Amino acid sequence: MDRDEPLLKVSGVTLQYKTTSHIVTATYRVGFEMLKSDRFVLLGPSGCGKSTLQKAVGGYITPTEGEMRLKGKLITKPGPDRMMVFQEFDQLLPWKTVQQNVAFALEAAKKMPKREAADRAGHYVEMVGLSKFANSYPHMLSGGMKQRVAIARGMAMEPDILLMDEPFAALDALTRRKMQDELLSLWDKTRFTVMFVTHSIAEAIKIGNRILLLSPHPGRVRAELNSATTPEDVAHLERQIHEMLFSEAAPEAAHA
Ligand code: ADP
Ligand code: MG
Repeated sequence: MDRDEPLLKVSGVTLQYKTTSHIVTATYRVGFEMLKSDRFVLLGPSGCGKSTLQKAVGGYITPTEGEMRLKGKLITKPGPDRMMVFQEFDQLLPWKTVQQNVAFALEAAKKMPKREAADRAGHYVEMVGLSKFANSYPHMLSGGMKQRVAIARGMAMEPDILLMDEPFAALDALTRRKMQDELLSLWDKTRFTVMFVTHSIAEAIKIGNRILLLSPHPGRVRAELNSATTPEDVAHLERQIHEMLFSEAAPEAAHA
């Protein structure tokens, strides 16, 4: 694959839920591209369809309009090339240890020999700083540690995209900041591709190299922004996002 060819191409995607009484449109004709090694953030207020959009990339929801392609191939179902990390602390198997939680997914999805899966799992458990807890069970871990295990499990699969849906939102403020730093330093080591969902402007700017800003329900693309590094640029970007989210301007008028 050409390095600059998009890894993920989302075109005109409308996502809907059909309930017994009515249809809920979660996103309306959303389009964007992700490149390899992007830290791509979906940012928008609660209910704007971020989780729905990410689940569609995961292959769990089929667009009613438009399409999604991963490496040129139409996304039609879930696969180990897209691993998800959620906000909830209960996403691990409670009866398996840290090491087993990470190895289990590898054995099941990648059909890897036990030995190889164990080695790779151990490597990723170490990368998230949990070697000492490899034989602990989830109930013995703090919220932040459980999220580290979920991240290790996702990364160990070496997916094309790691999908993270507000993974740090249920953590206390200090732990959250620490986890953001850790995620960035993991990225420095392996340059994995991540799609990160958040409703926090500050978190979006910190984590993302690119930010897709969605309008309130139903989610449409309001703008696609490059993240900032200098404090002045960060402040400017923060103001810009605030204005776009809380103004009534037509989405077309807000391309940045
Ligand atoms: P976000 O993650 O940005 O908070 P969601 O993707 O969870 O938003 O939800 C987008 C919209 O779709 C909301 O209006 C929500 O109420 C609706 N929605 C989400 N899940 C379902 C579902 N299973 N059935 C019906 N409507 C849903
Ligand atoms: Mg959500």
